[in-house]
Amino acid sequence: MSKCPQCGKRVYFAERQLCEGKEFHGSCALKYMKEKKEQKRDWLPDNIKQNLGRASEESAQQHEDPRQQESTSSYSHEDSYSDYYSSSSTKTAHGILIFGPPGVGKGTQCELIVKKTNLVHISTGDILREAVKSGSELGKQAQVIMNAGGLVSDEIMIGLIKERLNQADVLERGFILDGFPRTREQGEALLSLGLDISALLLLEVDDDTVVERICGRRIDPVTGNIYHLTFDPPPHDIADRLTQRSDDCEEVVRSRLQKYQDNLASVEQLFSNIVKRVDASGDKHAVFRQIEEFL
Ligand code: AMP
Repeated sequence: MSKCPQCGKRVYFAERQLCEGKEFHGSCALKYMKEKKEQKRDWLPDNIKQNLGRASEESAQQHEDPRQQESTSSYSHEDSYSDYYSSSSTKTAHGILIFGPPGVGKGTQCELIVKKTNLVHISTGDILREAVKSGSELGKQAQVIMNAGGLVSDEIMIGLIKERLNQADVLERGFILDGFPRTREQGEALLSLGLDISALLLLEVDDDTVVERICGRRIDPVTGNIYHLTFDPPPHDIADRLTQRSDDCEEVVRSRLQKYQDNLASVEQLFSNIVKRVDASGDKHAVFRQIEEFL
């Protein structure tokens, strides 16, 4: 990870802005180019400098708001500075985060939330499972990590999510982000995008309940419906075709729980002003009733 030549702080992948071949934060790149432009104007008469200064300040104010920056663009010479301003998007996505241990019921709650709000459900676990199914290079790497209950690298996850959050449906309808952020780095990267995030729903349940829920979980590959052998048994006629996620066995679940506990405090701290605690030990309707209060 490199350091920003403007402010000296670390530059995470998601906030990276290439400028003259170096990696800046998006807003630092703008400051850098602005300062450079000011220096170049030193030979101009004062009255002209002032007029130019006003114009560029107005422009910079509009774009210093991180929500208005398009952090994926890159530019390599001074002329692109104005291109960057004129082409940057003014749209910012809004949404909520759902956070909790594996098996706490995030997917189920997301279905209910989407029905009520029409937010786009983005599940990083689903994105990775799709990649595994497609046999892509990412999928091959992710499968090994997922089967061992580990976490895919922050750099990959931040890149994936950044791209997804910039797509038209998300900009139009907003998002519910499920499974991201999972680490402090991911949380910081998300914050650096300047999105309008109104809540982090923190679903809480004890570890033994998680293990019981996950180990009994079965998926219908035809409809995508999720059942539980004890709490939500499938109809008899489809029982034989149900499958189990390869990371849904007790040993892997314990490892996933450990990873979750390792990162809980730092993610909670980053979003402390919008954390909404939800007791997720009851049935899905009881849990959803609490969530509805925050939507
Ligand atoms: P989930 O369906 O959210 O339980 O995710 C399944 C698995 O995908 C996790 O156990 C991780 O191996 C991987 N994964 C999903 N989201 C992330 C993320 N944000 N960061 C790292 N790994 C992830």
